[in-house]
Amino acid sequence: MIGDPLLTAEESAYRDEASARIHALIPPDLPERMDRNEILYPKEYLREMAKHRYLGVPVPAALNGGGRDILADALVNELAGYWGSAALACCRSFTSHGGVILWKYGSPYLHDHYLRPTLAGDKFVCQALTEPGAGSDAAAIQTTAERRGTTYVLNGQKRFIDGAQSVDYIIVAAKVRPGGHEALAMFCVDTDRPGYAIKEVQADWMGFRGLGSAWIAFENVEIPVENRIGEESEGWKILMEELAIERVVATRAQLGQARRALQIAANYAEHRRTFGRRLRDHQWIAFTIADLAARLDAAALLNTRAARLLGQGLGKEARLEVSMAKLQGVETAWQVIDESLQILGGIGYTKKYPLERMLRDVRASRFTAGSTEMMRLIIQEEVFERLRDPAFRGEFVGNELAGSPLSPEGGQ
Ligand SMILES: Cc1cc2nc3c(=O)[nH]c(=O)nc-3n(C[C@H](O)[C@H](O)[C@H](O)COP(=O)(O)OP(=O)(O)OC[C@H]3O[C@@H](n4cnc5c(N)ncnc54)[C@H](O)[C@@H]3O)c2cc1C
Repeated sequence: MIGDPLLTAEESAYRDEASARIHALIPPDLPERMDRNEILYPKEYLREMAKHRYLGVPVPAALNGGGRDILADALVNELAGYWGSAALACCRSFTSHGGVILWKYGSPYLHDHYLRPTLAGDKFVCQALTEPGAGSDAAAIQTTAERRGTTYVLNGQKRFIDGAQSVDYIIVAAKVRPGGHEALAMFCVDTDRPGYAIKEVQADWMGFRGLGSAWIAFENVEIPVENRIGEESEGWKILMEELAIERVVATRAQLGQARRALQIAANYAEHRRTFGRRLRDHQWIAFTIADLAARLDAAALLNTRAARLLGQGLGKEARLEVSMAKLQGVETAWQVIDESLQILGGIGYTKKYPLERMLRDVRASRFTAGSTEMMRLIIQEEVFERLRDPAFRGEFVGNELAGSPLSPEGGQ
């Protein structure tokens, strides 16, 4: 068997060890119990993950993180998706993309009070950006954080917030003055503050259950100025950095789920017989499995590329690669799980196999953390931007076009 040529031997060893550990620590019935909403938030699992430093994987070890990089974080999330579920991967990755921004932009007070205990599994965190009136258009949020002396006073509503019923604090995006994205700042808000309220429990979702999701309200919630992450002027930059990590790392969990789905389908096709032959001996089924395997690896390669670029400290510069990884990752995972279920036929639609849950879970990823449409908008913007940039032109315009009427120099 050949190894993954895009991973070093050391990275492969880390992944293999993580695979065995994560498999061992996830109770086999946990994904289904979460799916039935029997669990409000999987705190015991997060505590176990913390023991092995699988929370906050890119954060330095001195702050209780894994001391590794974004790629290692993506690999851990892929395994949490493979052995567990997208929901289990999601609450783990909150500690990484949230952890990275707390580490990079947070004060020593925020490190001690929030980051260290979170990565030790003693405190739980989630993120609140989306509002009833603003999802994809993040700059349009209306939650306000008004500065009054040594405190900020928060007012507004956020909905679809995973973990809102259960966590100790939330990383919240709010506006410090009227305006667009430049007015946005980021805060740590304790959920035991007076004025924090669950407006509506959101437990009846199609998938992604067991995370204590809710529509929440802030009514004159006072928080100390020390709870602001970074400067007021840095809010948008911090949010974009956090979202870029989320787009790569959370998508990898969907690829983990999809890999498991395809393995189940391939195994089924080896044993199920129709018309006197194994399913895999029908060429349509065999070719479908071939196409899905190739697409899955292509999506994983894009994900690895984006993770490496983020790990090199590139953020804005890697918008194209991150958006391609998100777009291809979630669309491929959706397609792989759907086609895998098709190979199982009717039994795939029952709870005997996890495919129907995976299909419900992966559906959300096509619009969360930047929808497929938003990714296409960014990709086309970057394609045209790079066409104008001589440093990148070679990617899109072959030398044979240079000087021709079709080239940018030709003016047509
Ligand atoms: C399971 C789940 C978990 C979630 N967890 C969280 C969480 O923990 N924290 C959090 O803050 N949020 C969370 N969300 C919210 C999620 O991130 C938003 O649903 C997402 O950002 C899309 O926003 P929206 O639903 O308001 O859709 P809208 O922004 O209203 O968009 C509706 C549709 O129109 C499309 N669209 C919008 N603008 C354009 C355009 N210019 N061109 C073409 N198409 C466009 C969108 O792609 C989408 O398909 C969660 C949602 C779900 C379902």
